Amino acid sequence: MEFTLPAETRQWRDELRRFLAAELPPGFSGSDDYFDDEAQLPFARQFMRKLGDRRWLAPAWPERFGGMGKTPIEQLVLNEELAYHRAPHGGRLFTLGIVGPTLLIHANDEQKERWLPKMASGEEWWCQGFSEPGSGSDLASMQTHAVRDGDDWVINGTKIWSSNAHAADKMMVLARTNQGEPKHKGISAFVVDMKSPGVTVAPIDNMAYRRDFNQTFFDDVRVPAANLFGGEGQGWYAATTTLDFERSNIAAISGARRTVHDLIAWAKERRPGGRPWDKPAVRDRLSELYIEAEIGRLIAYRTVWMQARGEVPNAEASIGKVWFAMLGIKVANAGVDLMGPYGQLTRGSKWAQLQGRVQMSYLLAVAGPIGGGTAEIQRNIIAQRGFGLPRG
Ligand SMILES: Cc1cc2nc3c(=O)[nH]c(=O)nc-3n(C[C@H](O)[C@H](O)[C@H](O)COP(=O)(O)OP(=O)(O)OC[C@H]3O[C@@H](n4cnc5c(N)ncnc54)[C@H](O)[C@@H]3O)c2cc1C
Repeated sequence: MEFTLPAETRQWRDELRRFLAAELPPGFSGSDDYFDDEAQLPFARQFMRKLGDRRWLAPAWPERFGGMGKTPIEQLVLNEELAYHRAPHGGRLFTLGIVGPTLLIHANDEQKERWLPKMASGEEWWCQGFSEPGSGSDLASMQTHAVRDGDDWVINGTKIWSSNAHAADKMMVLARTNQGEPKHKGISAFVVDMKSPGVTVAPIDNMAYRRDFNQTFFDDVRVPAANLFGGEGQGWYAATTTLDFERSNIAAISGARRTVHDLIAWAKERRPGGRPWDKPAVRDRLSELYIEAEIGRLIAYRTVWMQARGEVPNAEASIGKVWFAMLGIKVANAGVDLMGPYGQLTRGSKWAQLQGRVQMSYLLAVAGPIGGGTAEIQRNIIAQRGFGLPRG
């Protein structure tokens, strides 16, 4: 693996940093995960359009679909800088990190031309409808189904934990199109306009009192046949592609890494009880996290480096997923321990430290080992596909 970035990629990083310094209002701070607070959504939309106008949302996509034909490494640098500088998320992970790359592989040319440019311009936000109340890890057991009726498919069922569905224009939906087939077969992938009659998005507040995800209901939702992609009954291939992309993103590590840097700076400040950094136990704990954040970064770089060589990271992406999820929890726990009662205060309190970030991360990081496939499932993948161990 080449550890040094080429000169033009370093220039691209500098250009991004200048853009972020100019465009992010002083004191603006997005969250460490993949979501914007609802109050930040209008700014997130504007910000996405500014990036889209420069073709900076999906630089690695082909130019005809709104990209710049850059490499996956340059895309990684973009994602890393945006997350490190806590720019708005704008549903980027779901639109451009997960669904877009899946469409690039599985949709036909007409569909790509119809859908991808609006993703790349920041005009449309997308979400992902896979999980159901009875189907998460065992996704293939899903019950949502679609029946062909003339030029349409008619979808009935429900999806749960649909991240950003309340802000999204379209959803990638998996539905069963052939009940008689074994469970991994007979599933098809559709694109559903969220404004279609029969689509209802109901909020689910998480324990940080934030509306990041939803339950989505489909009651006789008519979807044009031209919105089925990847082939009838072939939806499982699109699903597994999607999940591989979902696990290889760098935003999580970059957000946690930034918080570690902020905690170190915080601990070095002098305050009435003394400088926390002067205590060996504090230095040890933060140094350990600093190292783990650097390792996580290298894991993410390795995953994307494989993609740049045309390989499909699989166990490698799962290693990253577990590492990032656990690091997020460790960083939040360390922050709360370090700050004591101050670490429990929310953004807005005059006593809150680091804009209440530690308190928010403490509540949100719990979801890290669940979303996008649980840590246990990732460990199964690492064991079976990485080490070649037999299925239990
Ligand atoms: C923040 C967040 C955002 C999400 N966003 C979306 C989204 O946008 N779209 C979407 O479709 N879904 C989304 N999800 C859902 C997510 O993909 C599922 O929660 C996840 O796949 C786990 O499914 P489940 O919740 O049904 O748990 P289950 O699958 O029921 O698992 C319960 C427990 O059993 C364990 N387990 C299950 N099977 C095995 C096994 N074979 N071996 C070992 N242990 C096992 C699991 O690890 C877990 O601990 C999101 C979830 C979160 C937390």
